Amino acid sequence: MVAMTRDLARDVVAARADAIAESHDFPWDIYRTFCDLGLLGLPVPAEYGGIGASVLLQCLIAEEVAKVCSVSASLIAGPSLASYPIVLAGTDEQKQRYLPRLATGELQAAFALTEPNAGSDNAAMETRAVRDGDDYVIDGHKCFITRGNISGLLMVFAKTDPDAPKLSGISGFLVEQDVENGTPGIVVDRLERKMGQEASPTVALTFTGLRVPATAMLGAENEGMRALRALHKTRPLAAAVALGIGTGAYEYARDYLLERRQFGQPIAQFQAVQFMVADMAIKLEAARRLTYHAAIMADAGTGGRTAETSASMAKVLATDTAMAVTTDAVQLLGGYGYMKDFPVERRFRAAKLYQIVEGTNQIQRHIIANNVLFRR
Ligand SMILES: Cc1cc2nc3c(=O)[nH]c(=O)nc-3n(C[C@H](O)[C@H](O)[C@H](O)COP(=O)(O)OP(=O)(O)OC[C@H]3O[C@@H](n4cnc5c(N)ncnc54)[C@H](O)[C@@H]3O)c2cc1C
Repeated sequence: MVAMTRDLARDVVAARADAIAESHDFPWDIYRTFCDLGLLGLPVPAEYGGIGASVLLQCLIAEEVAKVCSVSASLIAGPSLASYPIVLAGTDEQKQRYLPRLATGELQAAFALTEPNAGSDNAAMETRAVRDGDDYVIDGHKCFITRGNISGLLMVFAKTDPDAPKLSGISGFLVEQDVENGTPGIVVDRLERKMGQEASPTVALTFTGLRVPATAMLGAENEGMRALRALHKTRPLAAAVALGIGTGAYEYARDYLLERRQFGQPIAQFQAVQFMVADMAIKLEAARRLTYHAAIMADAGTGGRTAETSASMAKVLATDTAMAVTTDAVQLLGGYGYMKDFPVERRFRAAKLYQIVEGTNQIQRHIIANNVLFRR
């Protein structure tokens, strides 16, 4: 599958990558190609029509696609954030209802956790869900929700017991959205303008009197934050996408240095340049090893602190590496690196995102420090 994806990335995705980087339109052509090949079903267990791929295999695949196009890689890596919580905490009925369609890509899902006043401190959320007979009524605002406007399923987190200690009292809900005709109680307020990745829409959502059946609850009442255990599995994937972004920039810069001549020779002959390339290669290889290790830990299924720590370490190292390597790639191309005609500046902009999403790298360091200091 990795070889197949590498060929697909080279033969199909690469040709679209520059256009996707400049576009505000979701790349449905690439999405449908991935659907046809079953790539949307990677995280979904085989009994629900997916591939049930290991986290390691998903990382290898996401990395191959990210080498050429970060938005396309996010189409494969992103859905895990919604699928894994359903696999982890969903009822049989919820699994039957959603997983087969998530596996084919017929249904897209968005993960709606972040709020205007609750980002890193997501347990401080203000969205409320109040029980009313057989339903819950949800009111609140979510922001920065990836594909929240084109997803038929929203995984919404809301306070169900505002008086409970901070990390409890929150529940997850599987909210169905009619993306064609609109849904009573859901308004897409705003489509964000961004530094990059504009073809992958990011929106703000407002819920007003949004009524969902009690059966839409994901897992037990007030235990919605347990769904975030899925992050042990998805953070290695974010790391793998960042790794691919960095590797794509590194490979382009490496080849460029052998072609570009200044002072009568290829600039690859200058030792200052050679050392930059060597450092890029070292950083990428170290990040790759840690990312694969975190994926293997996630696959081992032991959960717990060790897998969590590895996932956070990989996320930090790979995304910080992607930022450093893409910055150096722009530098190594000189003025051309700053130009949109050369495919390193888009990778530089994409890398920045991965230091922020799925918990900023400062928050990852908190998790790591907490685990190594106090939870051994
Ligand atoms: C393009 C994009 C797509 C996104 N997609 C989604 C999505 O699909 N679903 C979703 O729910 N969210 C999504 N997010 C939101 C993302 O997860 C948050 O932006 C992120 O968690 C940070 O929250 P914040 O932006 O409110 O920053 P803040 O929490 O306000 O943080 C600001 C700065 O303070 C630092 N900081 C905060 N607290 C601490 C602390 N205790 N110690 C040290 N430093 C700290 C942060 O690291 C950061 O540098 C997306 C964001 C972006 C940019």
